[in-house]
Amino acid sequence: MKFHVLTLFPEMIGGAVDHSILKRAADSGLIEINAINIRDYSADKHKSVDDYPYGGGAGMVMQAQPVYDSWESIVSEGKKIKTIYLTPQGQTLTQDKVKELSEEEELILLCGHYEGIDERVLEEIVDEEISVGDYVLTGGELPAVMIIDAVSRLIPGVLHNDTSAGTESFENGLLEYPQYTRPETWHEKTVPKILLSGDHKKVDEWREEQSIERTKNKRPDLYDEYIKSGIQ
Ligand code: SAM
Repeated sequence: MKFHVLTLFPEMIGGAVDHSILKRAADSGLIEINAINIRDYSADKHKSVDDYPYGGGAGMVMQAQPVYDSWESIVSEGKKIKTIYLTPQGQTLTQDKVKELSEEEELILLCGHYEGIDERVLEEIVDEEISVGDYVLTGGELPAVMIIDAVSRLIPGVLHNDTSAGTESFENGLLEYPQYTRPETWHEKTVPKILLSGDHKKVDEWREEQSIERTKNKRPDLYDEYIKSGIQ
């Protein structure tokens, strides 16, 4: 899968994805990240990319021209690639949305900065707006990295153990059960005995109970949805 990121700070993208699982995925060709500096497309001799907002007000607004031209450099071969603008005004990212995005072959992630981007270019190029939560960040780069990370782990082969994505939180509408590793006793706390029993059926039953219990306690909103869905 190929992620194109339109940004004023491409080094923020490269720095974040060049480690661990994402680095391995990129090295083995399962994902490709193409961070494009919007500033390189400025038609202005000073390479400026932002200007004062019409109507006054605080901050600067990213101009339409460099954003549009950087986007056009990707789609110029006539390819239709879903373009997502990261914005606090978008739909909040969920695991269902992540799954939907993982079906795409390529994605364009547009990162705003300062006060945001001239509305006219957004109207022309954006297919979907996504927020990572009801709070305001300085730029769309961290949200773009979050999408790259969450989507990449659903691409077959990216996680070593293909079953691991399938048992995690939000699968079946539940949070994941608690996890333990060695040593068996730590700070006088012992790992639940059932996990040492070797009885896989009992372990699975215990994990399911724990998933339900912790969803009920930690996320009553999800638990209500789970009960309503009737999948139990
Ligand atoms: N003036 C904008 C508003 O009130 O909606 C906020 C601009 S914000 C300071 C600058 C950029 O950060 C946005 O254009 C967007 O790309 C990104 N951003 C900030 N918060 C975000 C969030 N919660 N989710 C996704 N992107 C966000």
